[in-house]
Amino acid sequence: MTRGLVVGNWKMNLDHVEAVHLTQQLVSVLASRPAQHVDVTVAPPFVDLRSVASVVEAERSLISVAAQHVNDHESGAFTGEVSVTMLRRLGVATVLVGHSERRSLFHMDDQLVASTLRAVRRGGLDAILCVGESLATREARDERSFVRAQIAAALGALEGHDGVTVAYEPVWAIGTGQSATTTQVAEMVDEIRDEAARCGYAAARVLYGGSVTADNAAQIATEGRVDGFLVGGASLKAESFAAIVSACNDCYAERR
Ligand code: PEP
Repeated sequence: MTRGLVVGNWKMNLDHVEAVHLTQQLVSVLASRPAQHVDVTVAPPFVDLRSVASVVEAERSLISVAAQHVNDHESGAFTGEVSVTMLRRLGVATVLVGHSERRSLFHMDDQLVASTLRAVRRGGLDAILCVGESLATREARDERSFVRAQIAAALGALEGHDGVTVAYEPVWAIGTGQSATTTQVAEMVDEIRDEAARCGYAAARVLYGGSVTADNAAQIATEGRVDGFLVGGASLKAESFAAIVSACNDCYAERR
């Protein structure tokens, strides 16, 4: 049986001083409420990564550190970008790949998602592949084939069978306060598991992301049959993030 996974995506929030503060709060709240069945990861902005990793190391915390993005090249003339090797040397274990904000705001198409995923896995880091349909795609009832195509384009380009988690994040649910229903989540999770298995990733964990809060996490975890969450807004406060971790942990404790 796999362990759950809850990931906090801090996006472009918190400078390194604020990031250290939130990490210290998280370490302390998670130490008082241990989540035995769930892995916990935070994804701060690039400039905070070393500070956050230092706190985690100093406190001997099990929280792991992820980056929100990476360039698909090893090194070279790519002003403003960072490489997988640079991240690994900072203590980063995981990289988010193809978040919808990267896809829509920074022209990350399926091809670039695939080459970035390849670079992350080649460099020995784990990846969280983000997929999800727009509202227009869902209204056209094309969401299943759309998400399957995103997964096939990304996983089809890989050679291995592990080290990738898939996060289902419907674009219309991100940061809107309107999460997907548990039925919508469960249906898409089945679809994603099937497509991931077809691509050789039968054991990949599947997360849900999109307006997850301390109030809806338990129900989505149980009825949506997810392995955990990718959390944006609610990950910026230690209490709400820890409550989501607890909800996921309780769900896993019951599944055992
Ligand atoms: C996200 O950014 O991946 C996300 C799910 O954001 P939010 O939880 O704020 O909807």
